[in-house]
Amino acid sequence: MRPRAPRFTVADVTAAQQEHEDVDAVVIGAGFAGLYMLHRLRGSGMSVVVLEAGDGIGGTWFWNRYPGARCDSESSYYSYSFSDELQQEWEWTERYPRQPEILAYLNHVADRFDLRRDIRLGRRVTAATFDDGGDRWEVLTDTGERWSAPFLVTAVGCLSSANIPKIPGLDAFDGEWFHTGMWPHEGVSFAGKRVGVVGTGSTGIQAIPVIAAEADHLTVFQRTANYSIPARNGPLAPAEQAEVKRNYDAIRDLQRSTTNGHPYRISERTALSVTDDERDAIYAAAWERGGLRFRASFADLLTDADANETASEFIRARIAETVQDAGVAEMLTPRDHPFATKRPPIDTHYFETYNRDDVTLVDVKASPIEEVTPTGMRTAAGHHELDTIVFATGFDAMTGPLLGIDVRGTGGATLRDAWAEGPKTYLGLQVAGFPNLFTITGPGSPSVLTNMPTSIEQHVDWITDCIAHLREQGVRRIEAVPEAQEAWVAHTNEVAAATLLPRAGSSWYLGANVPGKPRVFMPYAGGFAAYTRRCDEVAAAGYEGFALSR
Ligand code: NAP
Repeated sequence: MRPRAPRFTVADVTAAQQEHEDVDAVVIGAGFAGLYMLHRLRGSGMSVVVLEAGDGIGGTWFWNRYPGARCDSESSYYSYSFSDELQQEWEWTERYPRQPEILAYLNHVADRFDLRRDIRLGRRVTAATFDDGGDRWEVLTDTGERWSAPFLVTAVGCLSSANIPKIPGLDAFDGEWFHTGMWPHEGVSFAGKRVGVVGTGSTGIQAIPVIAAEADHLTVFQRTANYSIPARNGPLAPAEQAEVKRNYDAIRDLQRSTTNGHPYRISERTALSVTDDERDAIYAAAWERGGLRFRASFADLLTDADANETASEFIRARIAETVQDAGVAEMLTPRDHPFATKRPPIDTHYFETYNRDDVTLVDVKASPIEEVTPTGMRTAAGHHELDTIVFATGFDAMTGPLLGIDVRGTGGATLRDAWAEGPKTYLGLQVAGFPNLFTITGPGSPSVLTNMPTSIEQHVDWITDCIAHLREQGVRRIEAVPEAQEAWVAHTNEVAAATLLPRAGSSWYLGANVPGKPRVFMPYAGGFAAYTRRCDEVAAAGYEGFALSR
């Protein structure tokens, strides 16, 4: 028998741990992915437990309660498609759903499908070790519980491990500080406060206008200027909602056949094949319509630098005409990366916020943050007095949540070692050397480049079918073949290199936002529809690229 990981020695087993339970599958996380995984596995007759760190379900939408938090995908399609009854009965109120509304939706789903009885809240999984002899995963939580199951599915999210910059002096700050991804449930009052926001990604850009409206003074610490498109949010008219509900079958089919899992196609026109006036009119219409669809205006915005520059320039011109102070407008103008090579934010009055007298923009690329003092933040250019600091500094994306668990596969090998040079997976679904472990929206899958619920449903359906097949065939073990994994990693790199996506030097897609993290383009950029086809072919060919053993 191969050596087992040292984590589960007899001496370590406390009384609580001895009460370990056997189930057919352990799922980690009770967000969009974990809830649906539970529903599907239970539906195929398996006993399942979902272990969730939070005190409530909802994942991203449980934790991210910062001011202005809402989804950048539209409510009609940022939702489950697996139940027509569900999509017919649920009423969304706005074009883009607010965080409390999505959280209410997920709680409704948990009740409607009777999911709660198999969800254990307030338990963070700290370790998962594969028992080579027994073909089982042994899972340990921070409450000392042990669970054992032949199958382990991670539903930990791609953006759930907060990235809090290690700024000297933060511990000695006299005021309060928060990370947007760990927002207090009771809320935060900014009234009468001098507030600093660090970060101008999608989160910062949502939060900044809302905080500015409440705070006495807001100072925004910007490292990289960002392109942002107006969201054009508003209430969903009943007639519009009824129309969506009537057409849901077609909408869902379209979502599944597109590059990004959205119910619209990327234009087939190339940006330089039309006249300047035609191109401007197309961008202007997309700007008026608002939202992420702007990036679908032309076929080649992510593959041709000259084409992209036309979109980048269009947005730069909108910033220049919106922001009254020319110096501030220039600071807000992105010039160091092409549009949409970092995940593009969408906003409600973001650039307009800098026209307020009580908002100051500080360029921390030119003058880096040096320290937090008891009364504020010092950059190379001077000191800013603050009562409250908000870190909208993002996440240790994609790998962070998985590497936060001490995962050990065959022979006690750690996931951390397996991914020392960056994540390596087969289809983003499995990692060689870690049998019977499935990673929903793992690195190497389209995940964050798509509408997440669409990708989540595809992964969950594939995993459910796979496990059902294994159980029917009496297969005890499924494992990615190292050569298949290498080929997939090479393909993932090749597909990314054919786009402009790796050109954004500071992008979290590349792991570049976390000091010391290997720089590898992590999601699969070949598109949702092409990816789904590949997954289906693999399954149809008897799970090609996986080793199945009885
Ligand atoms: P992010 O995109 O990684 O942005 C983090 C921001 O903080 C960036 O401006 C970054 O600057 C800055 N930053 C990080 N560390 C810093 C430091 N030490 N000093 C100064 N500035 C620092 O994170 P996010 O805004 O939370 O968004 C992450 C992803 O979550 C999004 O891209 C999106 O996929 C998802 N999201 C979705 C929604 C939605 O749909 N509603 C909303 C929010 C977020 P650099 O750019 O220079 O690194």
